Amino acid sequence: MNCCCDSEETNDLKIEGDVGADPIWCNRCGGNLDLEDVPISDRLAEELLSWATWRMD
Ligand SMILES: [Zn+2]
Repeated sequence: MNCCCDSEETNDLKIEGDVGADPIWCNRCGGNLDLEDVPISDRLAEELLSWATWRMD
């Protein structure tokens, strides 16, 4: 995955809405992860995106 600890398997993620960023973060290095890089379903990714967008309003 595209974060500072991408040499290791990272399963330690946190979900946090932030303006201008995807809502998934690495809990180890604090790096922002692209939704496409995170092994979640497309449906869950869509729900996270709409949730994050709602949080920005
Ligand atoms: Zn990381």
